[in-house]
Amino acid sequence: MTTTLKLNSLNFAFGQQSVLNNISLSVKTGQIGCLLGPSGCGKSTLLRLIAGFEQPQSGEIHIVNQMVAGTNLTIPPQNREVGMLFQDLALFPHLTVSQNIAFGLHQLNKTEQKHRVNELLSLCRLEGFQARYPHQLSGGQSQRVALARAMAPKPKLILLDEPFSSVETGLQNDLVHEVKSMLQADQSTALWVTHSLEEAFGIADQMGVMLDGKLLQWSLPNELYDKPAHPDVIHFLKNANLVSGTINSLGEIETHLGNFKLNNDANFKVNEQAQVGLNKRIFHISKNKKPNASVTKVVYQGGQYILSLKLFEGDIIECYVPNSIHIGSNVCVDVDEVTELTGFPIS
Ligand code: ADP
Ligand code: MG
Repeated sequence: MTTTLKLNSLNFAFGQQSVLNNISLSVKTGQIGCLLGPSGCGKSTLLRLIAGFEQPQSGEIHIVNQMVAGTNLTIPPQNREVGMLFQDLALFPHLTVSQNIAFGLHQLNKTEQKHRVNELLSLCRLEGFQARYPHQLSGGQSQRVALARAMAPKPKLILLDEPFSSVETGLQNDLVHEVKSMLQADQSTALWVTHSLEEAFGIADQMGVMLDGKLLQWSLPNELYDKPAHPDVIHFLKNANLVSGTINSLGEIETHLGNFKLNNDANFKVNEQAQVGLNKRIFHISKNKKPNASVTKVVYQGGQYILSLKLFEGDIIECYVPNSIHIGSNVCVDVDEVTELTGFPIS
């Protein structure tokens, strides 16, 4: 599989304020990469660098084997063949759906333009809407037209900046899947940024978590979830508990919940303190074994409960369980055997 987008150690600052710190990632051709991060972490700035509206202070951007930004080199935005879709999509109000989609197709002759517009009307399931104006469309329909307009000239790469943040919540889920299938059907390559976990896990082939201008991990979605490479990924995904312990001579971390083999034990010394993320789904609660924790909170969450437990030994953990348990009960909590855990230094 070829690579469409490659970022090498990008750094960017607005004046003295560092905004992007050593960002490297790549997106394979035909795939959707997704960057997940809270407001202000630098997502839009990164997309502006890729599109060519800002220049990195150092590092390189490659789009399909061409360096478009690097030391002493800048290819202007109009020559990068990048399409963009922003939050405020701004369709041209005085142009019809067809004319909006055809906007970037001036290099094609009339017959080719018509063919490409029809192809996109079918992709965004808006056949029959070609003569409508933007004010005659719903929010979701407008969004699909805006994406069709960005995709029309077959850019090498499409950048999507939180494209659904202005769409009502109920619609977002359907739209995410529609947009994903439009991109896939046209074999587009995209980099999508969002602060929404559901959106990111719903669309990404590759994904990463960004905090304070740093990309903490870039991997397959299931790896990000099951093998977080940084404690802040766990804090952001809220899918695991950070549990502390001591490294033993077998390269395990000894915790109050058991001993776990680490896949990076070479990074630690024997007797060093460290921590690991234990997924909230791997815990079992029994009431008829010797208790080691008390229940401090129970929250019902559609079909399951999230229990907060205070271990008698100190740590507070959360876990998913099928049935509710009284607050204040003493229980025994234990953990499935897990492998491939990454240990983190205690900061
Ligand atoms: P996100 O899209 O993740 O919300 P942004 O890329 O918009 O984050 O912003 C990242 C940081 O850069 C923020 O601290 C923001 O205040 C700052 N920033 C964004 N644009 C500018 C600008 N034009 N001048 C100075 N600082 C900016
Ligand atoms: Mg933004």
